[in-house]
Amino acid sequence: MPIDATLPYDDDNIFARILRGEIPAKRVYEDDHALAFHDIAPQAPVHVLVIPKGRYVSWDDFSATAGDAEIAGFVRAVATVAREQGLVEPGYRLLANVGSHGGQEVPHLHVHLFGGRALGRMVA
Ligand code: 5GP
Repeated sequence: MPIDATLPYDDDNIFARILRGEIPAKRVYEDDHALAFHDIAPQAPVHVLVIPKGRYVSWDDFSATAGDAEIAGFVRAVATVAREQGLVEPGYRLLANVGSHGGQEVPHLHVHLFGGRALGRMVA
């Protein structure tokens, strides 16, 4: 069920629980700013979710309230995961769903990283 991305942060959301280690995830990368793990229902041969460690509901919330170092750290982490997954050549896709029209279901900012096959043209 898509969420309202303007709601306050919910500390019990599933990705907050993964961050705290309360539920398992297939982790592939972690640094001071971000955690990355495989999506539970992959839509491509590589489908990794990258999340910031801070309490941000959405891309909108993150861009408006996170500090510059946190934003830079997160952006670099996403690129590092793509590189470590061997996706830079021939390429990959990043996606962040925001709010109900964006189809966002988990209320903790996450960037989907897709790769491992030709993904075709993006159709909204
Ligand atoms: P959204 O629609 O919010 O952008 O995407 C949420 C993503 O989280 C979906 O692709 C879904 O498969 C994934 N997901 C939901 N629950 C879990 C979980 O418990 N573990 C993992 N690894 N992925 C999850």
